[in-house]
Amino acid sequence: MLDMDANLLQKPKMREHPQRQKSSEADLSLMEFLERYPDDAACLDRLWRETYAPDGHHALCPKCDRERKFHRTKTRAAYTCDTCGLHIHPMKGTIFEGSPVSLKLWFYVMYVMASTRCGVSAKQIEREIGVTYKTAHRMMKKIRTELMTDEDARPLSGDVEVDETTWGGKPRKPHGETHLTVDPEQRRAAGIAHRESKPTILGMVERGGKLRFRVIPSRHGAALSRAVTANVDPTSVLLTDDWGSYKPLRRHYIDHRVINHSAGRYVDGDTHTNTIEGAFGNLKTGMRGAYKKVSPRYLQSYVDEYAWRHNAQRDRAELGPLFEQLLLRAVSA
Ligand SMILES: [Zn+2]
Repeated sequence: MLDMDANLLQKPKMREHPQRQKSSEADLSLMEFLERYPDDAACLDRLWRETYAPDGHHALCPKCDRERKFHRTKTRAAYTCDTCGLHIHPMKGTIFEGSPVSLKLWFYVMYVMASTRCGVSAKQIEREIGVTYKTAHRMMKKIRTELMTDEDARPLSGDVEVDETTWGGKPRKPHGETHLTVDPEQRRAAGIAHRESKPTILGMVERGGKLRFRVIPSRHGAALSRAVTANVDPTSVLLTDDWGSYKPLRRHYIDHRVINHSAGRYVDGDTHTNTIEGAFGNLKTGMRGAYKKVSPRYLQSYVDEYAWRHNAQRDRAELGPLFEQLLLRAVSA
């Protein structure tokens, strides 16, 4: 009873200062984000505190060679030593340095890319923040390639599920040719050749752990096995389907369990590749919705974005909300 009364008493206050429910799935709601980072000054203050001045006012001045009080410089994105007048630029050395786009917009794009489940298109960012498509695209590419790539190159280990998928549209008909003029046999061969030449995404995931995608030139032979041995530790138990190119890997690992997909089997006790297939499902749904056409040249950075979200979600308890993880990476670069 007492608890209920306390609850009732708190209610009006709660309405003015909404408190996040502990159980909420979201990291940081859009409203909370906008409240915390309403303008460039607030964003710059965050970078300043993160890198130089935890209390926002005192930092080590390299010129005075001791801790000094600093104040915000009026005319530029910097802080000035009260004693010697030295400027410190918190954006220096980060992806924000020298950008014509305001810090507030950078923060927003990072927030959106960290919060989305399926990915967000440059077109949508263009509409939401009022920059050109080219600028939106460039910002997202920077975030992807500088903040979302896999820094930890350690091989995966434990029980590791591995699977592969090709990426790309349907084979196109050569110019001037129709179904009638091309020999069906030739057409079939062209279709196969196209499929075989499509970039392949190799997916590897530790059960209950880290996910990694690698774009490789082919799903056949050495290209595939080399990529697996480069990314999965030999002490691992490898779990794959019965695709032939995985067979030679048996001798590299302490165990290789195969689920016989071609015989229509998908789960046999602990032997399955459901985790990696789930990750591919999310990747493909998202990429089809948000990106549609991705040139093979940039494909790795797009798949990195999906793996990053998966892994950041897993690291949340330890490293904090996804936007925070991205921000910390931005200032530590
Ligand atoms: Zn100084």
